[in-house]
Amino acid sequence: MLADHETRIQRRPIPPAAALSPFDDGDDATFRRLSDRLVHTIARRVPFRTAAIKLDRPIVSFSFDDFPASAHETGARILQDHDAQGTFYAASGLIGQKRALWTIAGADAIRDLHDHGHEIGLHTHSHRPSFLMGRRQFGADLAANRAALRRILPDLAHETFAYPFGLSTLSQKRTLGRLARASRSVQRGLNVGKLDLDFIRAYELTDRGLSLDELTQLLDDAAARNGWLVFLTHDIADRPTRFGASPALLTAALLGAARRGMDVLSIRDALTRIGVS
Ligand SMILES: [Zn+2]
Repeated sequence: MLADHETRIQRRPIPPAAALSPFDDGDDATFRRLSDRLVHTIARRVPFRTAAIKLDRPIVSFSFDDFPASAHETGARILQDHDAQGTFYAASGLIGQKRALWTIAGADAIRDLHDHGHEIGLHTHSHRPSFLMGRRQFGADLAANRAALRRILPDLAHETFAYPFGLSTLSQKRTLGRLARASRSVQRGLNVGKLDLDFIRAYELTDRGLSLDELTQLLDDAAARNGWLVFLTHDIADRPTRFGASPALLTAALLGAARRGMDVLSIRDALTRIGVS
C-alpha cells in the first residue's frame, strides 16, 4: 500500500513528446531491421560475466540517462533530501546541448553531482544505437566518452555503463566486459539470483509508463525477494516528457523504498554491496 501523501499525487496531463530523431534518447527500443532486434535479443540472453545476488536487505537504485539539466537540478536534490545518491549516465558528446526534448546538463552539473557523492557513468560519446557501430567504432566511442568525463572528473575510475537506447550486441557486451565495471540495460525485471553484470535489468520510472499501483508492486516484490530494483528515467519535472518522471513520482518511490527498509544506493554502491569488485 502507498501512504496517503503518495496517493495524493496529481496525475497531470503529459504534453505530447516532440518527434524523436533516431539519436535522441528515451526511445529505448528503436530497431530499424528485424536483424537488429535479433542481435539484441541474443545479446541479452548470453551472459559473459555473472554475480550471485545474496542480500540481507533489498536495494533500489535510481539512474538518469543522458542526462537533462532537470535530472541534476531537481532529481539529485530530491535524492539528497532523502539521503540518497543516484547514477547519472552522461553521453559526453551531448553535454550542455539543447535537444528537442530538454537541455543536457553541463560540465558544472557533472562536477556538482560527483561532489555530492552521486555516480557519473558512461553512456557513449556519440549516443548512437548499437547497431550503427561496429566493434572498433564502439570501442573508440567508449574511449572518447571515458576520456571526456575524466577531463571533467580526473578521479573518475571503474565506471559503470548504460546502453544508449538500451540496445546491445554480443560484441559490445564482450567489449564492456573488459572496459566497464557493469552495464545497465532497459530490460524490465528485478535483479535477483544470478546477475548478468553486462545486462543489469531496470524499470522505467516515468509518469507515462508506471502507475502508482505498479510502483507499489515493484517495491513489494523487491522487498519480498531481497532483490535489487533499478529504475531509469530522464528528466524530472512537474510536466515531464514521456521519458521522464515528476518529482511526486520520484518522491513516492523513495518513500516507498524507505518504508520497506530498502537501501537506496547508486549502481556503483549497489555493486559493491553485492560484492562485485
Ligand atoms: Zn541515452
